[in-house]
Amino acid sequence: MYRGRIAPTPTGLLHVGHARTFALAAQRANEAKGQLIFRTEDLDSARCRPEFAAAALSDLCWLGIRWNEGPDVGGPNAPYIQSQRLDWFQSVWKKLHATGCLYPCDKSRRDVENALVAPHADDATEPIFPLAFRPNQKAGQSATTPGETNWRFRVPWGEKISFHDAIQGPQTFIAGQDFGDFLVWRKDGFPAYELAVVADDYAMKITEVVRGADLLLSTARQILLYRTLEWTAPAWAHAPLVVDERGQRLAKRAQGLSIRALRDQGKIPLEILTQPLSILQG
Ligand code: GLU
Repeated sequence: MYRGRIAPTPTGLLHVGHARTFALAAQRANEAKGQLIFRTEDLDSARCRPEFAAAALSDLCWLGIRWNEGPDVGGPNAPYIQSQRLDWFQSVWKKLHATGCLYPCDKSRRDVENALVAPHADDATEPIFPLAFRPNQKAGQSATTPGETNWRFRVPWGEKISFHDAIQGPQTFIAGQDFGDFLVWRKDGFPAYELAVVADDYAMKITEVVRGADLLLSTARQILLYRTLEWTAPAWAHAPLVVDERGQRLAKRAQGLSIRALRDQGKIPLEILTQPLSILQG
């Protein structure tokens, strides 16, 4: 049985880009006569707000998107709210830690930037965590809980990670070149995105992940987590990003293009899902 999901992070109102990606997720689940699961990814407690989580549910409902399981409809795997699943994430941290692939890390983003030979040109991607900062294999092995420190995953430096994407076609990323040792746990006591999303997609038996193409690189990292955990990875379908006339990505702060603002202007769901941005904004 096909199981897809939509997994918004409630740090702002959802915009046209989210609407289109989530509508595609719903369409693929429908076409496969499968199930769609709604998950609230609210682990960043400083930036997430319950009112945005509620707005996401109601805006997507208004668009005509329906799900079979979620915070508002329950289901066999409830709860569907990540901030209520810390025990589960801790158990996944333990399983990863037991394989020896994690280490504690006290380097800051600034330490990483200062260590780079050339200035980091592209702000959109994370700088590669330098190999020189990786401690020896024994570091952190006696820990029994993540505690109040960051933890990183030791990537297989130089290895090619390839996967097929149902929309974007074949993809290859190289560990150590396209991405370095990445965070799986944050010192504020919460899992980092890569661990949380793998843990929950597995727990919710997701068979295909549909999300924005900005997360293609994350998929390569997540495939390494699936492999280490000895879990079967889902299939992948990364939707093209909605960009404005200057080719810029829509950020959540593009409030003028939020589903809510467009609805207040009298737009109907079909227009939001299909019209070029220049017409929607006009
Ligand atoms: N919560 C993420 C976001 O809103 C999406 C994560 C995912 O689909 O894997 O950008």
